[in-house]
Amino acid sequence: MNLPFAENYRIKMVEPIYRSTREERERWIAEAGYNVFNLRSDQVYIDLLTDSGTGAMSDQQWAALMTGDESYAGSSSYYYLKEKVTELFGFDYFLPVHQGRAAENVLFSVLLKEGDVVPGNAHFDTTKGHIEFRKAQAIDCTIDEASDTESQHPFKGNIDLNKLRNVLETYPNEQVPLIIVTVTCNSVGGQPVSMENLRQVKQLASHYDVPVVFDSARFAENAWFIQQREHGYEHKTIREIVREMYTHADGMTMSSKKDGLVNIGGFLAMRSSSWFEKATMFNILYEGFITYGGMAGRDMNALAVGLEEVTDRDYLESRIRQVHYLGNKLTEAGIPVQQPLGGHAVFVDAGRFLPHVPKEEFVAQMLTVELYLEAGVRGVEVGALLADRDPITRENRYPAVEFLRLALPRRTYTNNHLDVVVAALKNIYERRTEIKHGFEIVHEAPVMRHFTMRLKPIGE
Ligand SMILES: *Cc1c(COP(=O)(O)O)cnc(C)c1O
Repeated sequence: MNLPFAENYRIKMVEPIYRSTREERERWIAEAGYNVFNLRSDQVYIDLLTDSGTGAMSDQQWAALMTGDESYAGSSSYYYLKEKVTELFGFDYFLPVHQGRAAENVLFSVLLKEGDVVPGNAHFDTTKGHIEFRKAQAIDCTIDEASDTESQHPFKGNIDLNKLRNVLETYPNEQVPLIIVTVTCNSVGGQPVSMENLRQVKQLASHYDVPVVFDSARFAENAWFIQQREHGYEHKTIREIVREMYTHADGMTMSSKKDGLVNIGGFLAMRSSSWFEKATMFNILYEGFITYGGMAGRDMNALAVGLEEVTDRDYLESRIRQVHYLGNKLTEAGIPVQQPLGGHAVFVDAGRFLPHVPKEEFVAQMLTVELYLEAGVRGVEVGALLADRDPITRENRYPAVEFLRLALPRRTYTNNHLDVVVAALKNIYERRTEIKHGFEIVHEAPVMRHFTMRLKPIGE
C-alpha cells in the first residue's frame, strides 16, 4: 500500500478558536453591516478571509526574530535580507517597505503620471487603486479562458499577447510606463502564469521599450505550477525556476505577507540604478530610511528565512495539496469552483451557485454572508463590490465572474477545519433555491469601498 501524503511540519504552538451559535452570528453580521471585514476576529470560527499575513511562522523564523538588528542605519538584518533577495531573484537593487501596497506606492510615484495606462493580467485591487488614484488606467489583458470557470487551461493567469500588443500599438510609448504581471494572478483564482508567457510578454515589451514589473506576492506558488504543469521544468528546482522567471522582469513589487511567510512586510527590487535612486527618495519620504523602510530589523530577519522556506519543494507540496484538498471536495460535491484549482485559495463561482440571483444584488456577497451564518466561516467576495465603480462614470463595474474566495492561511488550519467548510457549503447548496434576498449599499468610500462599506438586505 502506498503511504498517504502528510504535511512536512508538525505543530509546536496552538491558538484556541471559538465556535459560535447561529443566533450570535446573525446579530454580529447585522452589526457589521453585512460586510465581513467589519467582523471582529473572535466572531469568526474558521477565517479564510485572506492568506495575507495570516500564516504561521516556523520555529526558525521565530528564532531569527531574536537576532534581528534594530539599528536605524546599516542594519545587518537589511544586508541579510538583501543578499537573499538578490540570490533568489537576481536583482541588484532592493528597498524594504512595510507591505505590498507600499511598494506599489513608491514605484508608481517614480513611474506613473496622470493619463498613463498600465496593461497587466487582472491587476490586484490595491495595484489598481494606486493606478486609478493617480488618474491613470489599468488595462486588463488576461486571456479569455480566465473568466470561464470550467476551462481547464493550466495557466489562466497568462496575458493575451494580442490584447497587450493592441494596447502597446494604441497608446504612445510615453503613456505606457510599465506592464504589470501578477504571479500568481490573485483576482482570477490564484492562477499561474507560464514561463513561456513571461518570456513572450518580456519580448513584446522590449520591442516597444516598455519595462515589465512582476507583482510577486505568490511567486513561489507560481513557480510550483510551472514545475508541475509546464513542459521542460519538471526536473528544475523551485529556486532555478524562480531565478529564470525574474530574468523576464525589470523589477518586482512584493507583499511579504503571502509568499514571504511573515505577518507583515514587503519590498521592491529592480535592475535599474536610476529607478532605484528615485525610488529611494520616495521610500525615505513614505516608508523609512533605505535600510529598514518601515520594517523592524527582526521582521527583515524572519522574512529572509521565510523566503528560504517558501522555495522549498516539500513546503510547497504541503501548501498546494491542502488548497486542492478543499477544492477537490467541493468539486466532488458538485459545487462550481474555478478550474483548474489555483495556488492560495479556492474560488467558488457564486453566479453558478445561485443562478437565480441578479448580479445587481451582489450575489457573491450573498454567498459570503450565508457561509458565515451557516458555520462561522469567513470567506470574501471577489465580485462587483470589490470591482468598485468606474472612476469616471461612477457606475458599478460587474466582473465577468462573481467569486466567493476561500483563501487558506499558510500552515494554519488542518484538513478537519476544511471539512467543516465543505459541509457548510454543501448544506447551503442543498437549500440554494431558498436564498432570495440580495443586498443594497448603504455606505461606501470613494476608493476601495469593499473594506469599509455597509450593506443591508434588500426589502428590509
Ligand atoms: C496582497 C497583494 C498586494 C498588496 O499587498 P499588501 O501587503 O496587502 O499591501 C498586491 N498584489 C497582490 C497580487 C497581492 O496579493
